[in-house]
Amino acid sequence: AGSLTCIGTGITLAGQITTLSKNYLEQAESVFGILPDKLSEDWVKSLNPSYQSLQYLYAEGKSRRQTYQDMTEVVCQAVRDGKKVVLALYGHPGIFACVGHFAIERLKGEGYEAQMLPGVSADACLYADLGFDPGTTGCQAYEATQFLFSGVPLNTSAYTILWQIGLAGEHTLKTFKTTQDNLEATVRILNKWFPLDHEMILYEAPFIPVQSPRIDRFKLKDLPQMDLTSISTLVIPPLTGLKLDKSSLDEFGLDITDFG
Ligand code: SAM
Repeated sequence: AGSLTCIGTGITLAGQITTLSKNYLEQAESVFGILPDKLSEDWVKSLNPSYQSLQYLYAEGKSRRQTYQDMTEVVCQAVRDGKKVVLALYGHPGIFACVGHFAIERLKGEGYEAQMLPGVSADACLYADLGFDPGTTGCQAYEATQFLFSGVPLNTSAYTILWQIGLAGEHTLKTFKTTQDNLEATVRILNKWFPLDHEMILYEAPFIPVQSPRIDRFKLKDLPQMDLTSISTLVIPPLTGLKLDKSSLDEFGLDITDFG
């Protein structure tokens, strides 16, 4: 019977795939992928010549919601046809990436075996390149547009990571970039939580091992002037770290003086 394994190829070419994922990739009967560039596609093809890109299902003017459904259906059909299928996505296959989750849910519902293996995601790279540990202050992550439209409060004592900042406020799901007006609105919303001169970072991990990461530090007010791409991630350092809270400590029978 057919089966599906969703794997992540990591961000940086060739070196960030896990040994287990590589084994599945090499042994698959049919490999589909959504990969960032031709180099990564050629590399996956060198490991398994059955590789087929799903990028052709994206189109300017076509809703991404429809594209993801179409991709899911192509993958599921190959499993129904009895193939041992691998879906190879860059980064981690299940982080800010819906097609693997959709396909697994659909296939399991139809009685097929389907699983996801973890991969090295963009945020895994950013902790390493920017040199911070999300455990020090805590860390919150949102898809930029979902955050901007939701009105949810930000916790300014923790790091904030906004994924897909290059699509900030893009509500049509039909185009692949944001606008100056959207970025100005983004500044107004972030300014509810952070001062206009708060320093933040645009981060892009390299896809190719010899390249360096993009680490651009700038002030909140200058966001509309920044060059945002489809791989930019916005990192906002906290205003304050975590502090001890007297009434919370009371619950444990502790006092601030117990911490020296
Ligand atoms: N599954 C991917 C992962 O595990 O990293 C994330 C895919 S999500 C659809 C695309 C978003 O991931 C981008 O808008 C950006 O926020 C982030 N991203 C992708 N590639 C990146 C890179 N090379 N450096 C930094 N962020 C990246």
